[in-house]
Amino acid sequence: MITTDILIIGAGPTGLFTVFEAGLLKLKCHLIDALPQPGGQCSEIYPKKPIYDIPAYPEILAGDLTDKLLEQCKQFEPGFTLGERAETIEKQEDGTFIVTTNKGTKHQAPVVAIAGGLGSFEPRKPLIDNIVDYEEKGVEYMIKEPEMYRDKRVVIAGGGDSALDWTIFLADVASNVTLVHRRNEFRGHLDSVEKVQELKNAGKINLVTPAEITAINGNGKVESIEVTKKDEAPYLIETDHFIPLFGLSPKLGPIANWGLEIEKNAIKVNNALDYQTNIPGIFAIGDVNTYPGKLKLILCGFHEATLMCQAAYKIIHPGKRYVLKYTTVSGVDGFDGTRKEAPKAVVKAIQ
Ligand SMILES: Cc1cc2nc3c(=O)[nH]c(=O)nc-3n(C[C@H](O)[C@H](O)[C@H](O)COP(=O)(O)OP(=O)(O)OC[C@H]3O[C@@H](n4cnc5c(N)ncnc54)[C@H](O)[C@@H]3O)c2cc1C
Repeated sequence: MITTDILIIGAGPTGLFTVFEAGLLKLKCHLIDALPQPGGQCSEIYPKKPIYDIPAYPEILAGDLTDKLLEQCKQFEPGFTLGERAETIEKQEDGTFIVTTNKGTKHQAPVVAIAGGLGSFEPRKPLIDNIVDYEEKGVEYMIKEPEMYRDKRVVIAGGGDSALDWTIFLADVASNVTLVHRRNEFRGHLDSVEKVQELKNAGKINLVTPAEITAINGNGKVESIEVTKKDEAPYLIETDHFIPLFGLSPKLGPIANWGLEIEKNAIKVNNALDYQTNIPGIFAIGDVNTYPGKLKLILCGFHEATLMCQAAYKIIHPGKRYVLKYTTVSGVDGFDGTRKEAPKAVVKAIQ
């Protein structure tokens, strides 16, 4: 059982900034995310796109914003359960909540902050009849541990940035990489498209276009896939892994069954006060919530996280008063023993 003060569901920008704000109040956080890496939409959908409306950053790449948020909250030593989806929540007699993931990991906390954005991202699956039989047996929709492909034969399908980036990366790891796409054109960064072209020209990868994977074969695990090129007879490619990278579609998912008030696929909260849901102790912040005038913007998630942490403090330390202090005045004490503070004024005579 993982125990913490605030259990955050969703490690997007809102969830990550919550760790920092909670840390200022000496509250510990643990984050659960269905994706294998933190950053939410910023890391998964548009890491290389510049954002222009983050206060004090005239321009910052979404991936760099994630790195900065991780750097900022590191001192508060957050725990992470990554690559697992929060599935169920149970209220205990002592008022705490136990959240269990799809892989059975249990987490207990007196406060739950749902920062689930558009929901957990579910992979778009190709329409191949028996594909589910091979999931985790050679078919993977996301790459969590690139090392597992070392010296293996890999077939990647897709035509976007993920398919291009992983083809480039795995070209140096796997024994053989084949990229299959249903069009000749790829939609991705120009430098990635050019790099894949170079790898193909150098014979380091196989490119099969325009083509689709039409069947998977194997005895208990993937052994080959069937490729069908336009106007040609299907043929087999022997492989250890088949990785369809057709993007992810967000779904509110299991959270929708937690007894929370939902409106248009978002969780209703009390925005006049603290972003608490209809269940006391469960808050919803960032893109996942709704209230009159809601804007799905990163800076709004930061604001909501800040107010939510103040309310969480009152639940965790009932009766204790917290007096807001500027970090410039109080400094920041990390849970890792670090201390940041503005230089003190000195009293010194001038001769
Ligand atoms: C292309 C694009 C461009 C954008 N440009 C801007 C911009 O310029 N400025 C701006 O302010 N905003 C922009 N946005 C919106 C911005 O990205 C979102 O407002 C922001 O990501 C919301 O952050 P969040 O942390 O609330 O949610 P998200 O970033 O969506 O993160 C939520 C996380 O929760 C996880 N999750 C959900 N449910 C579960 C579950 N049950 N179990 C485990 N994990 C779960 C998801 O996997 C996800 O990682 C843009 C969005 C897109 C798609």
